[in-house]
Amino acid sequence: MNLIDHCNRFRILLMIDRTFLKRMREMTGRLILKNVRMLDGDAADIILENGVINEIALPGTATGEEMIDYENKAFVSSGWIDMHVHAFPEFEPYGDDVDEIGYKTGVTTVIDAGSTGADQISDLVKSCKSAKTNVFAFLNISRIGLKRIDELSNLSWINEDEIRKAFSQYGDFIVGLKARISKSVVGPNGVEPLRIARRFSSDTGLPLMVHIGSGPPDIKDVLELLEEKDIITHYLNGKANNLFEAGEPLPELTKAIERGVHLDVGHGTASFSFPTAEMASEKGIRFNTISTDIYRRNRENGPVFNMANVLTKFLYLGYPLKVVIDAVTVNAAAWLRKPELGRISVGDIANLTLFSVEDESSLLRDSEGEERMADKRIVAKGVVINGEFFEC
Ligand code: ZN
Ligand code: ZN
Repeated sequence: MNLIDHCNRFRILLMIDRTFLKRMREMTGRLILKNVRMLDGDAADIILENGVINEIALPGTATGEEMIDYENKAFVSSGWIDMHVHAFPEFEPYGDDVDEIGYKTGVTTVIDAGSTGADQISDLVKSCKSAKTNVFAFLNISRIGLKRIDELSNLSWINEDEIRKAFSQYGDFIVGLKARISKSVVGPNGVEPLRIARRFSSDTGLPLMVHIGSGPPDIKDVLELLEEKDIITHYLNGKANNLFEAGEPLPELTKAIERGVHLDVGHGTASFSFPTAEMASEKGIRFNTISTDIYRRNRENGPVFNMANVLTKFLYLGYPLKVVIDAVTVNAAAWLRKPELGRISVGDIANLTLFSVEDESSLLRDSEGEERMADKRIVAKGVVINGEFFEC
């Protein structure tokens, strides 16, 4: 048999195998993830019944036909949560199809970071209805959202009544308010939009996610307005107005962290710098959550590509695997006040990510075009999302 025949035969066998597995799963409602590694180092067999975690058994002990054997080569964590994505497909440049940036890349839950404001939050809800990926959103304080990318340059676009209406209608979907506070977004308005956002936050109880970038406004004025549970996204950006000065974290940043302000990566096209990340790591300024700020263009052309690629960068920076994965599971779930999304527990509906750490070198590029060569690579292998299994 020549090589091509051999490959084709293998492919057909694999297809039969997968079809058989799928049919068995549908018939019995049972799936065994065999010989998977937990992040604490122990291996296990995870047995799902009708989408619910039924048992976490000793490795290699589960029996049955509907089984995927990972042979100790894959890790399992609770499903990855990406705190900063752009999941509204209609908007350019900041838009994408939710499942393309969600479960197909190992991410089971995404939080849209203010793509839409009060005018179109209902369209975002509608567009996500048929998606398999779990979706929540930060509501942009500008009613027009990212229909324009200077959405806070005109204060009349911030409408209190409309924000309240959106929140009363989509309270389960909206997890916070988004304010992009950088020069090209706020125009002449400085920190005024943030002051207004702060007031809405007190009224509604919704925390803020604040995008930072080039000034004015001065980053110190931004930091002073942030409170417990607010999130700074793009905290490792390498721009002039960033969170570090002369190799040290700004005192205003240290104070904000002490107040309980969260740090989020929000990699994006322009907001992750290796030199800033290396400095932050050296000074112990650690992320609470790692997010991608992914949308169509930086997914297809980089430097984001997908969550696994962003996580690989933090592994390269020297953070232990558990610290990296906790940032997209336990920490994100705790911020969302949905602890069930950050654990693997018997009785829960399964939201899991299966991934490997390959001993392969990979060239990593930041938002400034700086490169680093890593010798390990995180690769998403599959997800169980609300009890349903998909290969990545
Ligand atoms: Zn941003
Ligand atoms: Zn963004």
